[in-house]
Amino acid sequence: MKPRIMTLGSHTALQILKGAKDEGFETIVVVKKGFDEPYRSYKVADEIIIVDDYSEFRSLEDDLKEKNAILIPHGSIFSAFTVAGIKDSTVRYFGEKEVLALEESRSRQREWLQSAGLTMPKKFEKAEDIDRATIIKFNGAGGGKGYFLAKNKQEFDEKMAERPHEEGYIIQEYVIGNPIYVHYFYSPLNDELEIMSMDKRYETNVDSIGRISAKDQLDLNLQTSYNIIGNIPLVVRESMLAELFRMGRAVVEESKKLTGKGMFGPFCLEMVITPEMEYYVFEISARIVAGSNPFVGGSPYTDLRYDVPMSTGRRISLEIKNAIEQGRLDEVLT
Ligand code: AMP
Repeated sequence: MKPRIMTLGSHTALQILKGAKDEGFETIVVVKKGFDEPYRSYKVADEIIIVDDYSEFRSLEDDLKEKNAILIPHGSIFSAFTVAGIKDSTVRYFGEKEVLALEESRSRQREWLQSAGLTMPKKFEKAEDIDRATIIKFNGAGGGKGYFLAKNKQEFDEKMAERPHEEGYIIQEYVIGNPIYVHYFYSPLNDELEIMSMDKRYETNVDSIGRISAKDQLDLNLQTSYNIIGNIPLVVRESMLAELFRMGRAVVEESKKLTGKGMFGPFCLEMVITPEMEYYVFEISARIVAGSNPFVGGSPYTDLRYDVPMSTGRRISLEIKNAIEQGRLDEVLT
């Protein structure tokens, strides 16, 4: 039986499922009750399995395996299951599960990116060391929620006192520049790296503070927050592309030294670019990111390479299709 493409109904599921259908696969979505309407309305799922809670996924696994399902991971899968839960799942999975451990630990992720030669914002081990603008990021914070800025220990302590329930965090230099998110795809079948698209984020309240005067901002004692609510398409100066390709290639090559198969498929480098044109990478996502959602119909970059609308979701299914045709499906699944 031909594999079916399956994912959870959230995050980037619409483009993953649409892309799979465009490449000739049947599709399955597992979705929480109350969140199923988009998958019905957009007609991207051949089968919709509704659950009360994602903890039920385990009990669906035998059925999904019988249907020859391949799970396509995306950001919401990591909040629905733990990384350990994903590792234990017996459903076939697109990607290299070993990369999850690299990505999950901030210190291992930092080692990976730095040994690939990328520049990262300085990390402060303790609040006493803060000597410049810093951003405090809590572990597991989904989409920037709860982050705050502090320029010295006193400010750090004051703001931390307002958040008594938060546990693990890191203190990172706040880099002044423009944040951009570059969406890559690496194919282990032909060793080619593609830049699929790019986005910038629309975050509340940081993207709305500029709409009120500096005086009002101070009077209201506003604190910036970085809760993501959407994504905005972006293209960069063409002269920057060569460096972005070099950076993407470097993290792929480094990942091959750190895990069995290395990282492949979609990934994203999240960076701030300064006025001096320095690229500070503050995070890597080793999977499809929601910033690729504006490009269901392809991006200016994929238009250059493909004659059909090529979303990142569709590119995943194309990779699976190519792997099947070449008898190499095992190389892209765990
Ligand atoms: P993250 O959850 O790591 O993607 O970060 C959420 C948001 O915080 C990003 O979109 C950026 O706007 C901002 N940000 C994160 N790290 C830094 C940094 N080191 N310097 C400046 N801005 C940052």
